[in-house]
Amino acid sequence: MAEGWTRRQLLAQATIAAAVYTLDPHELCCGVNAYAQTAGSEKFNLKKVGDGIWAAVAEVRYKVNSNAAVIETNDGLVIVDTHSKPSAARALYTEIQAVSKKPVRKIINTHFHWDHWQGNEVYASSNPGLEIITTEQTKQNLTKPDAGVGGVPFIEKQLAALPGEIAKLKEDIDKAPNPETKARLTSNLAQAEAYLQELKQLKPTLPTRTVSKTATLQEGGREIQLHVLGRGHTDGDLYIYMPREKVVATGDAVVDWMPFLNDGYPEEWAQTVAALEKLEIVQLIPGHGEPAPKTHLAFFRGYLTDLVAAVKKAAADGATLDEMKTKVADQLAPKYEKGMSRYPVGQYRDRVGLNIEMVHKKVVKKA
Ligand SMILES: [Zn+2]
Ligand SMILES: [Zn+2]
Repeated sequence: MAEGWTRRQLLAQATIAAAVYTLDPHELCCGVNAYAQTAGSEKFNLKKVGDGIWAAVAEVRYKVNSNAAVIETNDGLVIVDTHSKPSAARALYTEIQAVSKKPVRKIINTHFHWDHWQGNEVYASSNPGLEIITTEQTKQNLTKPDAGVGGVPFIEKQLAALPGEIAKLKEDIDKAPNPETKARLTSNLAQAEAYLQELKQLKPTLPTRTVSKTATLQEGGREIQLHVLGRGHTDGDLYIYMPREKVVATGDAVVDWMPFLNDGYPEEWAQTVAALEKLEIVQLIPGHGEPAPKTHLAFFRGYLTDLVAAVKKAAADGATLDEMKTKVADQLAPKYEKGMSRYPVGQYRDRVGLNIEMVHKKVVKKA
């Protein structure tokens, strides 16, 4: 594994208290546990978005997987993001064999969240000399005790929380009102139990190389630009841009779900997306959801801008947080509800209340 550190050593470094930890549903980032998924295995749909570039679109699982970008060069593959678990990275790697059998040379992690890097070890163990690239800030976040929903300390938090989550699923199965619900919850339980076992075995594999500002890789005849554009979804977001094909992989800084603001910077985020829009883009590969044309950026940025403005205005008018959650949600719905509810997860009404709460906390109260 990268730098030869064990998880224990990393944890000691991070000096976290191994207290019993309950995961607040708000902390689950892109993991939407409320959605019940039927049986199956970790799966991706590979979609070609440019010459030698594929979006690996993750199917919805109980423990969510990020999308990946797969980039083929003359001498190998570069893969952006590695999902929430090694089994998912292995599943994608197997699927990739159908389009290219070249070795994996580099992994790029877009940010530190759990569902984007926990599969790193799969590529590191089978590709000696593998480089794992991210921003300097993301590398720091991966070992910080309080960075948010990702990194080495967050593995320990998930391990502490999973037995309770599993017990709750068992209770819910007993109370299931119909066979369909029972079947879905039973699948979720199996997935939660398998995830716990994987997490116990996880070998956290950290980036080996960082960038702190925009840089260009010349990679087997292909130019890959790494753009550091400012704070947004996190303070370390990295955008991976292929100028020849005009394709960009954004991580969760741009998603086709409702955005997750808990570790984010709502006011700066819209400006960062505006900076991204200066690039010529034909296809973007979001952190979650389907590949999208450039027009999605204006829609997504518009939501962030309008959300911040509406919460500020409601606060200035004296609305309480609870009042805002209804009023602002209804006010923005005509423009955003349909476009932000295209999948069974990450929908407008599931998340708008939490988004309003986060903007209230970070922008109005500046907590
Ligand atoms: Zn994510
Ligand atoms: Zn994220």
